[in-house]
Amino acid sequence: MLKIGCHLSSAKGFLAMGREAVKIGANTFQFFTRNPRGGKAKALDLDDVAAYLALAEKEGFFPPLAHAPYTLNACAADENLRTFAKETMEDDLRRLEHLPGSLYNFHPGSHVKQGAEKGIELIAAQLNGILRPEQQTTVLLETMAGKGSEVGRSFEELREIIDRVELSDKLGVCLDTCHVFDGGYDIVNNLDGVLTEFDRVVGLKRLRAVHLNDSMNPLGSRKDRHQKLGEGSLGYAALERIVNHPALRDLPFYLETPNDLEGYAREIRWVKGAYRD
Ligand code: FE
Ligand code: FE
Ligand code: ZN
Repeated sequence: MLKIGCHLSSAKGFLAMGREAVKIGANTFQFFTRNPRGGKAKALDLDDVAAYLALAEKEGFFPPLAHAPYTLNACAADENLRTFAKETMEDDLRRLEHLPGSLYNFHPGSHVKQGAEKGIELIAAQLNGILRPEQQTTVLLETMAGKGSEVGRSFEELREIIDRVELSDKLGVCLDTCHVFDGGYDIVNNLDGVLTEFDRVVGLKRLRAVHLNDSMNPLGSRKDRHQKLGEGSLGYAALERIVNHPALRDLPFYLETPNDLEGYAREIRWVKGAYRD
């Protein structure tokens, strides 16, 4: 069954997100765990969570994808920034234990001038300090566009991080279609080849979610500017192949396209129409 949702604002809580998802025809959604620019999360309202879980069960929702603030940098050169990233992620994961089976996506980080190897080492060390054997949440490394000194553009870098993490059964990957395309993987003309490469380097069993976005920029541009479905460099035909690919079609798809709710509802209708049952 198709699992489709989009990024929703968490400002009004979980029940509100669940209701919004129903309204736009989604059966899952993504949200920021706190202000995307970082900062303190407001206390979790357990009544709101319980009401959401009841709705999710009634509607047959797939668990949501929680997105860490994108300003966190697990491989910052400054130790204080790394500690801030660690404490924020730990706090997020503690809270997510109230949402069984959810996924927690984060941007691996930017090595700035330290070099990718150092970045990979620091990210893995960070994860080794955060992951707990008893946690129910799977933590996902997002594939990055390779803007600036971002770590995680290449499948090899993701693999190197995973290889260094002890509790790697708690780790997976979220494939962002805009990012991988901007990062130089031609999912328009060679989707099979790219996924075969992903399988060889990382392993398809690690792939747990897809960010379904079109891109404003050409292949390999390393830009990371999302576009509405069908209106960018990927186009409808490639997106249709993506949602139906045997390696992807059972994963949850999350739209992060520049849209209001009505726009998301339209794109969800398009994905439903494109998806072959
Ligand atoms: Fe992201
Ligand atoms: Fe993304
Ligand atoms: Zn992006």
